[in-house]
Amino acid sequence: MTDQIGKGLCAFCYDERDLVEPPCEEKPEKLLGQPIGMYHCKDCGSMVLAGLPHPWLCRRCADRVSSEMKEWKEKNNVGPKSE
Ligand SMILES: [Zn+2]
Ligand SMILES: [Zn+2]
Repeated sequence: MTDQIGKGLCAFCYDERDLVEPPCEEKPEKLLGQPIGMYHCKDCGSMVLAGLPHPWLCRRCADRVSSEMKEWKEKNNVGPKSE
């Protein structure tokens, strides 16, 4: 497993300090083998690459993303799926 993509720079602001795992529920590594390539993470909007783990974010961006995700869920009342 190479990790040259992921832990070098914040995927969002390219800050290299204080990197943490992204709070995103998007898991681009699960898309391995699909002809998608680069796409925008639906949670944080940063560019991710299908087949590779989500790049890390700096603490500032991760905090912002996780609070936005929480707000979004509260606003949209995301609960157990009813399909
Ligand atoms: Zn950042
Ligand atoms: Zn993300």
